[in-house]
Amino acid sequence: MKFDLRKQFTLINLPSEGIYYKNKKKSLYIRYLTAVEENVLCDSMLNESGLAIQLVLNNIIIDNDIKAEDLILSDLQAVLIFLRSTAFGDDVELSFNCPHCGQESAQKIRLSSLDWKKQEYVPGPDGMFTVELPVSNKILKIKPVFFRDVLQEKEETEDDYITIKDLDGDIRIKKESTSKLMSNIHEIDGVTDREGIRERLKTLSRKDITLLKQFLSRNENGVVEEYDFICEYCHETSKSKIGFGYNFLSLPLEYKQNVMEELFLITYYAKGGVTMDDAYNMPTFHRRWHLNRIKEEMDKRNKSERDASNRARAQARSKGMAR
Ligand SMILES: [Zn+2]
Repeated sequence: MKFDLRKQFTLINLPSEGIYYKNKKKSLYIRYLTAVEENVLCDSMLNESGLAIQLVLNNIIIDNDIKAEDLILSDLQAVLIFLRSTAFGDDVELSFNCPHCGQESAQKIRLSSLDWKKQEYVPGPDGMFTVELPVSNKILKIKPVFFRDVLQEKEETEDDYITIKDLDGDIRIKKESTSKLMSNIHEIDGVTDREGIRERLKTLSRKDITLLKQFLSRNENGVVEEYDFICEYCHETSKSKIGFGYNFLSLPLEYKQNVMEELFLITYYAKGGVTMDDAYNMPTFHRRWHLNRIKEEMDKRNKSERDASNRARAQARSKGMAR
């Protein structure tokens, strides 16, 4: 690994503490967001497929023994939250509809003080949990969901439901939760290919599926997305969910204009001291700091010009009176 000290970077701790990775990696060296990445994050097509985040993170991660797609979702969340908080500020304002009075109010969330879920059990040395289901006696190897699973899921065209045979009749599981289950299962009774796992998943009983889902939810890592909101109108507390998916870092298309404007202002007022290339590669908070500093100088200059012209006017007036 070679550090380029001209580019600002930092070390962040991964919430998984590396227990699911072969190399047991506990932390990552990353650079901060710059206009180069912001431009990619403004592209709605790239955002939808998850490619924007993949490209941005692989550009930002300095370590060469891990890639964005190798991260489990909770670690990916931690990196995205860190990048957002350092580039755009630690407070995020969300609007939520109060179920008691129906009013919409804004709630501030501090990204650095979010709660994180921890798994109940420690996985084996291979980073997986081994689970034996009580009804079918099938032995499963369970793993967390990796970013690569999510990217792959997007490409696969699956039926909307899978049907599971049960004594009480068929159970239909929606695609969303099926693919989540599929992403969590590495192996059933020694079978590891996706089609084989899917076939075996269909033969499980309702009880086995329920227990499996309970096990997964108790051993999931990531941000606690359930949040207590206090309504500013009726002051009732209610639970709401914040989505911290990989789209959490996506930027609206209009944001691109802002970035262009900021890049122009910096290079214009730096009078050759900052090139367009420098401005592009400045961390976002650094770019904003420069702009604020330029504004301060402009304000100072405007004020002294105003003061000078006021003084001149006052002098002219007093001379006029003396005459
Ligand atoms: Zn309310």
